[in-house]
Amino acid sequence: MGITDIFGANVFSESVMRERLPKKVFAEVQDAIENGGRISMETADVVAAAMKDWAVEKGATHYTHWFQPLTGITAEKHDSFITAPQDGKTILQLSGKQLIMGEPDASSFPSGGLRSTHYARGYTAWDMTSPAFVKEQSAGIILCIPTVFVSYTGEALDQKTPLLKSMAAISEQALRIVRLFGDDKARKVVSYIGPEQEYFLVDREKYLKRRDLIYTGRTLFGSPAPKGQELDDQYYGVIRERVGEYMHDLNCELWKLGIPATTQHNEVAPGQHEMAPIYTVANIAVDQNQLTMETMKRVATRHGLVCLLHEKPYAGVNGSGKHNNWSLGTDTGENLLEPGDNPNENLKFLLVLACIMQAVDRHADLLRESAACVGNDQRLGAQEAPPAIVSIFLGSLLEDVVDQIVQHGVATSHLQGSKLNTGVPSVPVLNKDATDRNRTSPFAFTGNKFEFRMVGSSDSVASPTTTLNAVVAEAFCEAADALEGAADFEEECRHYIAKLMKQHHRIIFNGNGYSDEWIAEAERRGLPNLRCMVDTVPALTTDSAVALFEKFNIFSRAELESRAEVMYEMYLKTVNIEAQTMIHMAGKHYIPAAIAYSTALAQSISSVRAACPEADTSVQSGLLAEVSRLLAGAQSAKSELIAATARVNALDDVPAMAHAFHDEIVPIMARLRCAVDSLELIVDKDMWPVPTYGDLMFEV
Ligand code: ADP
Ligand code: MG
Repeated sequence: MGITDIFGANVFSESVMRERLPKKVFAEVQDAIENGGRISMETADVVAAAMKDWAVEKGATHYTHWFQPLTGITAEKHDSFITAPQDGKTILQLSGKQLIMGEPDASSFPSGGLRSTHYARGYTAWDMTSPAFVKEQSAGIILCIPTVFVSYTGEALDQKTPLLKSMAAISEQALRIVRLFGDDKARKVVSYIGPEQEYFLVDREKYLKRRDLIYTGRTLFGSPAPKGQELDDQYYGVIRERVGEYMHDLNCELWKLGIPATTQHNEVAPGQHEMAPIYTVANIAVDQNQLTMETMKRVATRHGLVCLLHEKPYAGVNGSGKHNNWSLGTDTGENLLEPGDNPNENLKFLLVLACIMQAVDRHADLLRESAACVGNDQRLGAQEAPPAIVSIFLGSLLEDVVDQIVQHGVATSHLQGSKLNTGVPSVPVLNKDATDRNRTSPFAFTGNKFEFRMVGSSDSVASPTTTLNAVVAEAFCEAADALEGAADFEEECRHYIAKLMKQHHRIIFNGNGYSDEWIAEAERRGLPNLRCMVDTVPALTTDSAVALFEKFNIFSRAELESRAEVMYEMYLKTVNIEAQTMIHMAGKHYIPAAIAYSTALAQSISSVRAACPEADTSVQSGLLAEVSRLLAGAQSAKSELIAATARVNALDDVPAMAHAFHDEIVPIMARLRCAVDSLELIVDKDMWPVPTYGDLMFEV
């Protein structure tokens, strides 16, 4: 079967609805999807019945309200279509009410104090704008209905609710901007995202021998393999058979779900790969990315593999991120981030750009926070892509335009792309872009979109997209307030653009984001450098964050405070699991292996001496002394870790606990790792209890 036969086969899409719903009902639903608004209960009943019939034809037995709690992944609880049997028969049913609303008894999801036990009700409500789909899994074929998840008192308990609100906010404010330029056709402005997803594959049998991978998704021990990524021979390399079969299978599964997986290649680190879909409307893309991550894991099992989505499965080689490509487009098809042929004269584009500069500079801390997750602490600010400092890369062409405006108030020219002559007679002369790329920037302009590269590979793209939409909506709103009703619009607009660009020029950085000089330079510029997740959390509840989110009805102060609480909890629980896993592995695997090896050395010394008193046993005794020294180091770090985690876990203030985990526990974990990794280099490979980095990364 070709792509077109399977693409979207498992999606209750617009075309399926058109085919299966009465005309009037279809029109009502489409109108609600396009323009927001509600449908009547009678309509909901008709849609539900059609959806159920369609799903049952696909073999579905159950339905679920599919939602995205604050755990970062998705949640589902399956209910069958079966109704109470009458005369020994049962009929399959999905009512409008069941479609629209659910009440999962989901009181165990993190809510950061929004749901005390006596207020534990949480409701899911159908998000019509993201299509329903059927998912084939071992538990059967399930009809999944995308929903938002809110508390009894209406607070958001999920990622989706604020995202949808941010999309509404930016649409409204961006419309005011396009109206300033005389566009009265556009009826909304859509935020689009295209998340590129990086991942690692590892052999399942080897994976199952590593408790750290099983419990935490990353290796907590492991000395580097003799070869890493230094030769760059993996990046874009020929895809191995087994990995290729996996990618093919993955594509087919994604296509069935209507996910336009399009690009695939090997990434920088051994065992690392990337998949990019074609971009789409933000909330649909968020759902699709969640489904992608889930499908990546599921399909891997079929191939005897495990897919690792952790940001840093292995120390010493690149980690994984998610490049969140973001743009804004009118419903009439205009991309607001398109500079056009003469960007220096494109006032609309320059105003949008100036507003984005203002938004990113003003709320750099919030953007950094939106990309914070526990695993990302191993990447951001750790000398690999990208740094923890938020800055904007514009490329030489736009930077030049901005510089002219900053210096002279206007830009009178722009750099031209040139010809690229390879010098090979048979190769045509190519048109060269006026702008090169910069892979080290966290927020890079790439032609007609921004690429927010800080997001972690395992994390939802909902929060970074919500934040981006919100901060830019605020800047648009201020611009519209200032310019609506201007006497001389062009003149005042130019003035406004120049003012913003002057004020926020410091956020532009085109150099090497990994260098130490940039850290010093950023500090001089006053840009925040939030090195770890716990340091980013306060950004959520600053006065400026609360004012921003409340203004656009995206989060209330209580919701922001609850999210801060959830972040701290997530951090401390995750690090605690890592610490406990290290204690377990050290105690059960590594220390016994080192003891066995030192015993073998001791036995060797005595038997060699017994057999030949004048034989030189200095190698064995040297090794024995070294192993014993490292063993003592490992044991003492392990004991320290046990004592310290017990002490920190007994604290009763959540933020204090999170900080203590970062400041006190993480350094002890590093010491324990260091001792064990040194042992790994000495102990006989046959006695080493777990697969090594070389085994894991190169034998896929
Ligand atoms: P690049 O080479 O700049 O990384 P690609 O064409 O490979 O760009 O696209 C990377 C991702 O960006 C893809 O998921 C793509 O669909 C997405 N993308 C392309 N254009 C846009 C846009 N206007 N808005 C949002 N995402 C986009
Ligand atoms: Mg890219």
